[in-house]
Amino acid sequence: MNEKLYSNERYPEFVQMIYDYVIHKLFKYPDYKFRIIKRKKEVNPNHMVLGYINFQKQIIALDIYTPKKRQAKSINSLLRTIAHEIAHIQKPPYRQRYRGRYITRQHYPVFYKQCDKNIEKIKKDPYLKQYFRQTE
Ligand SMILES: [Zn+2]
Repeated sequence: MNEKLYSNERYPEFVQMIYDYVIHKLFKYPDYKFRIIKRKKEVNPNHMVLGYINFQKQIIALDIYTPKKRQAKSINSLLRTIAHEIAHIQKPPYRQRYRGRYITRQHYPVFYKQCDKNIEKIKKDPYLKQYFRQTE
């Protein structure tokens, strides 16, 4: 990928445009707003959150910079995170009894299948397919 393309001050604006296209036009969730996760310093890659969704406020938030060097992430990795967050809307968390108590299941097999379907849908899009290797 062309790293230079993303390393300028208009990168957040570009990500916003991609977000609007994917969430509003392709997946048709017009009420969901985009937020960039702001961090002041480098983060431990093992404990970092790539993105999150807030159902009440209808916000999908993404960290658009790499954990250590805080460089612009590739559009490919952002699209994969968006596909994951959208799957949370399509296959919402549910409560389940487990060993006598209730737990919330968020990342379950049907959820991950939905993530894969979302990626496939993004890859088929005439504009977005450029961010995936053509052989995939
Ligand atoms: Zn998740």
